[in-house]
Amino acid sequence: MNPFKFSIAQQPSEAIAMLAKNNSAALLGGGTNLLDLMKEHVANPSEIVDIGRLDLKTIKQSPMGVSLGALAKNTETAQHPLIRKEYPMLSRAILAGASAQIRNMATNGGNLLQRTRCSYFYDISMPCNKRSPGSGCAAMEGFNRMHAIFGWSEKCVAVYPSDMAIALSALHASVTVLQSNGTERRIKFDDFHTLPGEYPEKDNSLKQGELITSIEIPKNNFAQHSAYVKVRDRNSYAFALVSVAAGLELDGNMIQAAHISMGGVAHKPWRALKAEAYLKGKPATQLNFIKAAEEEMNAAKPLFHNKFKVEMGKHTLANALEMALKG
Ligand SMILES: Cc1cc2nc3c(=O)[nH]c(=O)nc-3n(C[C@H](O)[C@H](O)[C@H](O)COP(=O)(O)OP(=O)(O)OC[C@H]3O[C@@H](n4cnc5c(N)ncnc54)[C@H](O)[C@@H]3O)c2cc1C
Ligand code: SF4
Repeated sequence: MNPFKFSIAQQPSEAIAMLAKNNSAALLGGGTNLLDLMKEHVANPSEIVDIGRLDLKTIKQSPMGVSLGALAKNTETAQHPLIRKEYPMLSRAILAGASAQIRNMATNGGNLLQRTRCSYFYDISMPCNKRSPGSGCAAMEGFNRMHAIFGWSEKCVAVYPSDMAIALSALHASVTVLQSNGTERRIKFDDFHTLPGEYPEKDNSLKQGELITSIEIPKNNFAQHSAYVKVRDRNSYAFALVSVAAGLELDGNMIQAAHISMGGVAHKPWRALKAEAYLKGKPATQLNFIKAAEEEMNAAKPLFHNKFKVEMGKHTLANALEMALKG
């Protein structure tokens, strides 16, 4: 690990002022991703700004629905009575990630900004456009079993790893950030994470010097008909091969609207818009769930080693919809 300066921010305004003074400073949430990246020399900030003392830890009801403090821990969020009752899909997604110890440390803001788990990104002897723009993508011709089947570019085929974010995407959340000029802006979840395109070094639309302060989730009427299903290589400490967050708004057996997002398949939470469109106005039947899953997954563009994700995605999506129906 390279030497770095350690600073402590007492107020959000102090945190953004510290970032404004040093554009190679990094914020420290729970540190569970940042410190790993520093130990591997993938991230080399010259200053760490500890934001652990900021008053951004509250989870509360809001006029819109619920507001999650950026510094509330993942465990506390998953176990909060309001989240368990009104947003069970989110609780399940958080609890499907990492381990109890990591979730006790991890913060909601840090979770959204965790970086890809592409093994070439972590190996500084390998070319990687995300770590070192212009150097190439070792995964494109390498072992790309864990990589993307939707939305990838010639520059990067990595997937985004967070489970929590997949549920937040299906829940149509938004992210509130404090900008470097001291004013707030709100980013719709669909616009928060980005596809790799020409600039895979960027994971999201956050600008230099911005601090996430909260995540806002609107009310919904599908809490009783929602599910999070994650398929992985082992039951703990494993990132998703494919995951699905699904919620069904029902009128009797008719689907008024479906809310579906997938993990493990793209550089950002992948909204299954084709499946959502297929299901709207149709009866909630197993056959329609399978057809919706096919509609979505037939558009996938797998790489050499991850063709299995297409079939796995169909089954996982249809299965998540069935689980959501049963509630
Ligand atoms: C062994 C292991 C297994 C894991 N398995 C899973 C899994 O299965 N599923 C899953 O979803 N996750 C998994 N994780 C990842 C884990 O969930 C993340 O490391 C964690 O959520 C990151 O949160 P943090 O607060 O520790 O972030 P940090 O490491 O503190 O920060 C991450 C990034 O966010 C920035 N940041 C932090 N807070 C803010 C803020 N408020 N505003 C702006 N920038 C901020 C930091 O500067 C840094 O760039 C795993 C991690 C490990 C180590
Ligand atoms: S897939 Fe992306 S993160 Fe992985 S090696 Fe290629 S450029 Fe780097």
